[in-house]
Parts: sequence; C-alpha cells; structure tokens
Amino acid sequence: MRLVLVGPPASGKGTQADRLTARYGVPKISTGDMLRAARAAGTPLGKEAEGFMNAGKLVPDQVVIGLVDERLNADDAKKGFILDGFPRTVPQAEALGSLLERRGTPLQCVLQIDVSRDLLVERATLRRIDKRSGQIYHLKYNPPPPGAELEHRADDQEETVKRRLDEYDAMTAALLPYYEKLGLLRRVNGVGSPDEVTARIQSELER
Ligand code: AMP
Repeated sequence: MRLVLVGPPASGKGTQADRLTARYGVPKISTGDMLRAARAAGTPLGKEAEGFMNAGKLVPDQVVIGLVDERLNADDAKKGFILDGFPRTVPQAEALGSLLERRGTPLQCVLQIDVSRDLLVERATLRRIDKRSGQIYHLKYNPPPPGAELEHRADDQEETVKRRLDEYDAMTAALLPYYEKLGLLRRVNGVGSPDEVTARIQSELER
C-alpha cells in the first residue's frame, strides 16, 4: 500500500486516513504533523518552517522533501505508507517520484476524496465541538445532546473555510492533472457516512 490521499478541508480525509492505516497496517505520513512536531521541539528545521507556517504559506519544497525522504527510511514505512498533505506542488510530486524510484517502490495510487464545495461549506460551518469531551457534532446531521458545551472552531468559520477551499483548488489545479497523466489518479465520492466512504475507498483500492 503506497498511497497519496488528497481531499479538501472537511472532506473526511483525516478520518479515512486513520481507518486506512489501521486496516492496511501502514503508517500515515503527514508533513503537517511532522512540521508541527519540529516547530514544537524547536529544531533547526522547525525554526526554519515556523515563519512560513505561521503566515499560512507553504514551507519550501526542499524542506518537506527532505523530511519525507528521511521518514520513508524508517522501518514502519517499509511495508508502505499513506501520505497526507504531501505532495502539495508538482516539484514535490516529481521529487517523491524520484525518491520512490530510487527505492524501487513506486506509488500505486493517488486517491482523491471528492465532495462538492457547497456541501463542504455546510459541513464546516455547522460543525461544533464539545469543549469538554472533544466530541464532534453537526447541527443538522449529528446534533449535539442538550447541555453540550459547544465551540465553533475559528478555521470552520464560513469565510475561512471558503479561503481554505480556494487554496485547495489552487494547489490541486496542477497536481491532479499531473497524476492523472501518470494514470495514478482515482476519485472516490466522499458524500455519505464515514462507513460508506470507507467501503468505497476499499473497493476502489482492492479492485
Ligand atoms: P497541514 O496540517 O497539512 O494543513 O499543514 C500545516 C502547514 O504545514 C501548512 O500550512 C504549511 O505551512 C506546512 N506544510 C505541510 N505540508 C506541506 C507541504 N507538503 N509543502 C509545503 N508546506 C507544507
């Protein structure tokens, strides 16, 4: 299982990535998580990345490519991986191709979780989190019980969600055609319950 998972904010990508790692016994490799850990630990790389991350900008390609290269050497990645949040640019995708070619383990699939923009905005703007339990609710589809202490995350506010969706569209505008040309791109309908989406992904991967 050597997979890149791509999906817009609120597409359920995080949930599906967790389920896939459990099912296939391969690690999720998230450059966002690795960069946040480096930033928190105050490593030289973390310090270099910090300014870009805080400004909401992409960290330079060389930095994330180096991180992924090193991470792929770890024992747990020998069986495969699910990449999340990488690659984000065509140069990153090209570098990933070379890294994997060098190891003789080419990418098998780039899986895109597809959800319409209107539904994504609705999902995020109606999403609420119980501050005490961390439980996530949706005011329409999964209403919270009475007495829940609800919070609406700053990055789930409508304007922020729309901006993040614009960024996603700009990012994937070149990346998805790149993988389509290579014959690696597959799309899965992300509308439905998490279980329904998981079932679709599995049948696509095991096809
Ligand atoms: P994420 O959690 O994937 O949204 O990543 C958080 C932040 O880390 C992003 O806003 C970027 O600043 C940085 N980052 C994560 N992955 C990459 C990547 N592949 N290329 C460049 N910057 C990245």
